[in-house]
Amino acid sequence: DSSTLDVIVIGAGAAGLHCAATAAKRGKRVLVLDHAKQAGKKILISGGGRCNFTNMYASAENFLSENPHFCKSALSRYTQWDFIGLVNDYGIAYHEKTLGQLFCDHSAKDIVAMLMAECSKYGAKVQLRTEVQRVEATADGYVVHTSSGMLQASKLVVACGGLSMPKLGATPLGYQIAEQFGHRIVPVRAGLVPFTLHEADKERYAELSGLAVDVVAENERASFKEALLFTHRGVSGPSMLQISSYWFPGETVSVNLLPDEDCFARLNELRQSRPRMSLRSVIQEWFPKRLALTLCDQYQWPDKNLADCTNSLLQRVADTLHAWQLKPNGTEGYRTAEVTLGGVDTNQVSSKTMESRLQPGLFFIGEVIDVTGWLGGYNFQWAWSSGWVCGESV
Ligand code: FAD
Repeated sequence: DSSTLDVIVIGAGAAGLHCAATAAKRGKRVLVLDHAKQAGKKILISGGGRCNFTNMYASAENFLSENPHFCKSALSRYTQWDFIGLVNDYGIAYHEKTLGQLFCDHSAKDIVAMLMAECSKYGAKVQLRTEVQRVEATADGYVVHTSSGMLQASKLVVACGGLSMPKLGATPLGYQIAEQFGHRIVPVRAGLVPFTLHEADKERYAELSGLAVDVVAENERASFKEALLFTHRGVSGPSMLQISSYWFPGETVSVNLLPDEDCFARLNELRQSRPRMSLRSVIQEWFPKRLALTLCDQYQWPDKNLADCTNSLLQRVADTLHAWQLKPNGTEGYRTAEVTLGGVDTNQVSSKTMESRLQPGLFFIGEVIDVTGWLGGYNFQWAWSSGWVCGESV
């Protein structure tokens, strides 16, 4: 009987399911609504089907937000170790891939099955194929209008995620509900997303498609040492996805193509020890041949023996390799973005409970809030942490 619900959670994603189980465990009567025909669709495709469900080193520094302090409370009350404990309880096998990133050994399905089992264990109901159209506040709670009728509950949790990957069912409903109750929305944009290139660069780098190099990508806001991948549309790979969250249109990204070398010193040494080696063959030793040739052509580095290279030429080569200037044309946008930056302004939400400061009984959790993690399991950790603190107080 829906008239006796304590909590309606909109969105059976990472945050919504974890919140629902947590609240139900406290004895709350909880209903989760989702328009998808499957719960946790993003979890299922995440991490290449293996779900990078958290990061061992997760802390507030790994998140972007207008208020970088907001996420601290939830992250410290429900940590990565709490979630890892739950994963252990369910006997789900996992491994660290790199940089503290934990992935399932078998399948992301294990994580969704675990969340669904937690919901059913404590009696939280999950109703799929139900689109939430609009909500309204009443004297004693909320009325939720859905594609399968009207439901009511005393508390409402908005866990409907961001705008990334509309194919998987993303909608702007969460932002609309926030605005309806007077919340400010920090402007949203695609994050953790591949860059597209201007036509000339796209042509120049087209034949590098599929090639990966370890780089440091940086701008004045952030720096990431991870792989860069050339694609037929532009550049991707973890370093590019990471820096994309800190990039604004028109800006250049500086890429150190040889982060572990001092190129100028090395070129000088080689000029002494192997004077008849050509500059181009040195560069070909440092990079896959296709990339080496593309760089030599683009910057018109002469095909001279090192002995005939001036200091200023070697310096120019070294400077370019250590700070290759990449000017994206744009990003691939929400179609392929892993996350949505911006969202519900944290200043109008309690960091302890995720409850609206403007509208009692209304809560926001997960990606819909202006808290966005780096690549590497941080976004799910935010979903677990914010979902849990909400579930504890709703
Ligand atoms: P979601 O998981 O997006 O859940 C929102 C739910 O709300 C959805 O089920 C949606 O169907 C439902 N919904 C939306 N609108 C309505 C409506 N009007 N009516 C009813 N229901 C609605 N993060 C990591 O930490 N590690 C990873 O490995 C990782 N891999 C990713 C891979 C991809 C391809 C993508 C796109 C994202 C990945 N992320 C990863 C990010 C992560 O998936 C999200 O940050 C996380 O899922 C956010 O959780 P959420 O519960 O806030 O939203």
